Amino acid sequence: MKYTIDQKRAILQKTASRCHICWSRVYLKNHGLRGARGGWEIDHSRPRAKGGRDHMNNLLAACWGCNVDKGAATTRTARRRAGHGRTKAPLSKVKQTERRVENAVGAGLIGAVLGGLLGGPPGAALGTGLGAILGGSAEVE
Ligand SMILES: [Zn+2]
Repeated sequence: MKYTIDQKRAILQKTASRCHICWSRVYLKNHGLRGARGGWEIDHSRPRAKGGRDHMNNLLAACWGCNVDKGAATTRTARRRAGHGRTKAPLSKVKQTERRVENAVGAGLIGAVLGGLLGGPPGAALGTGLGAILGGSAEVE
C-alpha cells in the first residue's frame, strides 16, 4: 500500500515520531529506507494476516528491526519480546502535554489538601506550591 506524506505525518504524530515497539526515534524522510538512521515502516498493529485493516487506528510507526521481528505477531507479543517492559506505544506530543497538565493539577490538589491539613491558608499555599513542583517533574510514560 502506498501512503501519502500526510498519512505518514499523521501516523508519526501518534507516537511522537517513535517506534511504537522499542520507542526509538524515527524520521519522516526515512520512511521505507532500510538501514537508514531512523528508518521506519508503517506497521499494522493487528497484522493484516489476522484481519487487521488499513485504517489509521491500526497503523503505527515501527523501526525496521522491530517491524521485521514482529512479522505476523500482534503488537502485544512484539512489545513483550522487545523486553523493555513497556506495554504501550509512546504518547503523541499532544497527549504528553495533556498528561503533564493532569499530573500538575492532580499533584496541586493533593498538595493543597496536605497543606490544608498542615494548617490553614499558608499551609495550603505551601502545599499547592509543592504539588506544582511535584507535578511539573512527574515522569510522563
Ligand atoms: Zn523499534
